[in-house]
Amino acid sequence: MTNILIQNGQVVDTVSLKLKKADVRVRDEKIVEVGPKLKPGGGDERVVDAKGLLVSPGLVDIHVHLREPGDEDEETVASGAAAALAGGFTDIACMPNTTPALDNEAAIEFVFRQAFRAKAARVWPVGAITKERAGKELAEYAQMVRGGAVAFSDDGAGIASAGVMAKALKYMQPFERTLIQHCEEPTLAGGVMHGGFHSTRLGLPGVPALAEELMIRRDIALVRSIGGRYHVAHISTKVGVERVREAKKEGLHVTTEVCPHHLLLTDEAVSTYDTNYKMSPPLRSPEHVAALFAGLKDGTIDCLVTDHAPHRPEEKEVEFLNAPFGIIGLECSLGLFAKALVHSGRLSWPAMLAKMTDGPRDVIGRPRVAVAVGQNADLTLIDPAREWTVDVSTFRSKSRNCPYDGWQLKGRPVMTILEGKIKFEL
Ligand SMILES: [Zn+2]
Ligand SMILES: [Zn+2]
Repeated sequence: MTNILIQNGQVVDTVSLKLKKADVRVRDEKIVEVGPKLKPGGGDERVVDAKGLLVSPGLVDIHVHLREPGDEDEETVASGAAAALAGGFTDIACMPNTTPALDNEAAIEFVFRQAFRAKAARVWPVGAITKERAGKELAEYAQMVRGGAVAFSDDGAGIASAGVMAKALKYMQPFERTLIQHCEEPTLAGGVMHGGFHSTRLGLPGVPALAEELMIRRDIALVRSIGGRYHVAHISTKVGVERVREAKKEGLHVTTEVCPHHLLLTDEAVSTYDTNYKMSPPLRSPEHVAALFAGLKDGTIDCLVTDHAPHRPEEKEVEFLNAPFGIIGLECSLGLFAKALVHSGRLSWPAMLAKMTDGPRDVIGRPRVAVAVGQNADLTLIDPAREWTVDVSTFRSKSRNCPYDGWQLKGRPVMTILEGKIKFEL
């Protein structure tokens, strides 16, 4: 076991949203000392000079697609968990839309086993809401909770039937797990980009903002009547943000998250017909993007996530109409969020990092982590001034479907520490 002394860093407090200059000593799996000018302890203690660096609680991404079982050439639990560490994440939650789906206890346990073998970031499996994600019969929540499922979702599709959704909310309640909904009314879906000016101009079928809005409205009405914990995945619309804001004011247990692409790109990007701009929900128009920023500033949006969705090149390198939805993002999301939120003056570093630590941990029911004595040493060291260029050829992910190749970013994780061990170092 290596002991670590992190000197001269700025410790991130995600509650007071302040930075405090302090040294941090890690012994075994725990933080044992935090204070000014700690003396090196000698022996096998590794001294890390963190001058100019932020010392943050370990980052969490609760919306990641690993492709195991079923499509291991796109991503495995091991490759995804390694990509996560390189992105500064100590923990990720993976969605159940694998082949077969993670809809039973054995499948959940399989993910844990693969993650244990990988010895990279922690992986928390999300179980399916319905059997085979078919939207009809409820999956066995009690068994999956016993196996370790941290939340439930049929992500990739929303629960179309109000009746099934009502039952799911009801039967999930004793387990205190969050239902994560991919909000898209299926009878309005079927398009390949945002339905609006650019879809008309390009002659491509659109998905209207209404497809998301309707499902969020319906679900909030169901939560009001039935109760439960409800989380809107990858929110992308103005009215969606407004409804979540109102639900929170009402005191309902409703939370949401946003992805970097919905903040940094608009539907105009589809003009290139580059399939790395095809995602679900689609890139929206500027008025929606502005509403997402407002939702982040006023606390309506709790979490920042990637919706990391690996696809093999031969699948993605086809005409726009036929390409699958989704892009990868684990290894560049911190820099992307910093560009969208910190360098634009919208949020401070601690305010942004709170949405990558406490916010997501709350949603999946994992205890919060602070940089404080007695806490688990799950830490991410970030260089906020580090300028770098995204190079997808260096990614640990098995896939390359990423529209940010060549982007200049500022801010990068330089060390990821998990249970007191340095798991990634730039
Ligand atoms: Zn989704
Ligand atoms: Zn997703």
